Amino acid sequence: MPIDKHVYILDSALVPHAGDARLEIAVLDGLAHVHELRLRSEEDLTDEQCATADAIIVWHEFKLTLDTLRRLRKTRVIVRNGVGYDNVDIHGAASLGIAVSNVPDYGTEEVADHTIALTLALIRQLRPLFEDIARGSWNWETAAACRRIRGQVFAVVGCGRIGTAAALRAKALGFDVRYYDPYVPAGYEKAIGVRREHSLDALIAAADVLSLHVPLTEETRFLIDVPRLQSMKRTAVLVNTSRGAVVRYAAIDQALSEGWIAGAALDVLENEPQGLDLFVRHPNCLVTPHSAFYSQESMEDLRRLSAVVVREALEGRLINVVNGVG
Ligand code: NAD
Repeated sequence: MPIDKHVYILDSALVPHAGDARLEIAVLDGLAHVHELRLRSEEDLTDEQCATADAIIVWHEFKLTLDTLRRLRKTRVIVRNGVGYDNVDIHGAASLGIAVSNVPDYGTEEVADHTIALTLALIRQLRPLFEDIARGSWNWETAAACRRIRGQVFAVVGCGRIGTAAALRAKALGFDVRYYDPYVPAGYEKAIGVRREHSLDALIAAADVLSLHVPLTEETRFLIDVPRLQSMKRTAVLVNTSRGAVVRYAAIDQALSEGWIAGAALDVLENEPQGLDLFVRHPNCLVTPHSAFYSQESMEDLRRLSAVVVREALEGRLINVVNGVG
């Protein structure tokens, strides 16, 4: 049978080799043509692409707003190649009957590992130690601020997949792990053997490490702002591997400048990739370029699984839908 379905991968700039959609093609073989577009923004989508797209795969830097969604003629599903879907107007898509799905199950281990790596780097004072070594200095006392991990409070905000994976790792390291998440079922704390806090502010006040794992929603945008940073222990550190806008950038800057907290480690920024000067200006700040999700294995999983979501949708089974379209 001739293949008459089209799948557009809008922005695969994260994938090193242009024109190499081999993983997606392998999954969709015999079902759809896969087009790797490498567009820079939604305005670059042509009318023909909008008219012929049965499914769309989109990475995290590319926005899909209602104006563009309205141009789509027969799209069944938009797959966010990743976990967070804040770059797609999911409600607008729902109003047009277009399902938006994500890939929740590809890089949980990587993000949790990265969270712990950043936490340990902050606590063990790795940046100042490395900088000393680079200057030719051999001096353990550069790490004078370092405190023993056992018993420190590792405070998880959002105890979903990644929050749980980070909590279990932190527990194995000897942290006193606590979480705040009003949406997980009662008793979840017993299942993973950590303590539940019913107030975010109580969790923040107790935290030695405040680790963020919530999705970016209307409720969580700027969840961490000046008052909450001011309420942290001055010896505590903030780790954010979730979404940049969960923390107000200017507030972290102020917190580091004025010593409200001892350090911050950020894999995500409010306006990525802007704001790298934070790293330059604050020696107690670590920044990584939204790389927490990545390993060679997780990237392959992500691409293969997003194509599987497309295949399922094109065969009439919607999975991982985040906007209620059934
Ligand atoms: P998840 O949906 O499994 O977990 C999120 C948890 O946050 C849920 O348990 C939910 O109940 C909780 N939550 C929602 N609103 C909350 C609130 N107001 N207060 C407290 N808890 C709240 O998601 P996940 O897969 O664990 O992903 C977590 C975050 O990590 C997301 O922001 C995602 O975008 C981000 N992420 C980042 C990277 C990266 O490379 N840095 C990669 C993957 C995911």
